[in-house]
Amino acid sequence: MRTAWLRWHHAAVLVDGHMDTFYKELEEGRSWFSPQPKWHIDFARLRKSGTDLQICAIYTPPKFEGADATVWAARMINRIYEAEKTAPKQIRIIRRRADLDLPRGVTGLLISIEGGLPLDGKLDMLDYFYNTGVRAMGLTHNPRNLLADGASVKRARGLTSFGKAVVKRMNALRMVLDVAHLHLAGFRDAIRIARGPIVTSHTGLCRFLDRPRNITDWQMKKIAGTGGVIAIDYLTEHLTGGPEPASVKDVVDNIEAVAEYVGVEHVALGSDFDGYNSVTKGLEDVTGVPNITKELVRRGWGERDVKRVLGGNYMRVLKAVLA
Ligand SMILES: [Zn+2]
Repeated sequence: MRTAWLRWHHAAVLVDGHMDTFYKELEEGRSWFSPQPKWHIDFARLRKSGTDLQICAIYTPPKFEGADATVWAARMINRIYEAEKTAPKQIRIIRRRADLDLPRGVTGLLISIEGGLPLDGKLDMLDYFYNTGVRAMGLTHNPRNLLADGASVKRARGLTSFGKAVVKRMNALRMVLDVAHLHLAGFRDAIRIARGPIVTSHTGLCRFLDRPRNITDWQMKKIAGTGGVIAIDYLTEHLTGGPEPASVKDVVDNIEAVAEYVGVEHVALGSDFDGYNSVTKGLEDVTGVPNITKELVRRGWGERDVKRVLGGNYMRVLKAVLA
């Protein structure tokens, strides 16, 4: 009985909504196929964690403007293609719904642009990125861009007309809309225009820590209302605010709060691994993810609901959205 949780963990389809490991690859010029002890994730540890499908963020730092952002994003996407080429029997880039039925031993990677900078204000660049395999996108990072204002903008406006056109085009292309980092003002517009389930791929909750980057109860209701998921991240900055490190218990508190407020079918995991530097107890790296399962089971969660949180819910959304 002691290890029932571990069996459930490895029997579950595990989906993570957000990681920045390919940013690390590009920034540092190293490969995730080699041990990278300073990173949260390398390929061997990702496999060990039981992760079946990893959504890979294409983050463009604000220092890049215009076409430079496009080039940076294209190079990061290329790293993901190179990864698939290096380990074709172990890695599959997810392009269509049928790809989500992953054979045993195959890790799915889904490419998601974080912030619309690489579009460079041009709607056909969304199609371009779609054609290169991108299947999800968050409209902003924290600052303002040509689509909308991010969570850190003080007197925020809603979506620009370009931002609205992008959301409509994402609907038509059947891409997953990610509202993480989006300011509440833009969120209101996005939720009105979006068709089908939407996600927030890595977030904390304002009810525990009221800060712009976290989501309010109202936003939780709205996302759940689309049939989508709220993926809880593992950052002390989003969970407790520090200065003491948050722990896996705080992550599970957030998971339980979403489950209780909008239903267990709307909660998911979105680590943000390799996107932050703080430490979270029990989740020091990707091999700590089974501790979430352990804590859920310790609190009395049943196998069915555990599996929903670990990946069943995210899978449902991806299957509903992708063509
Ligand atoms: Zn982020």
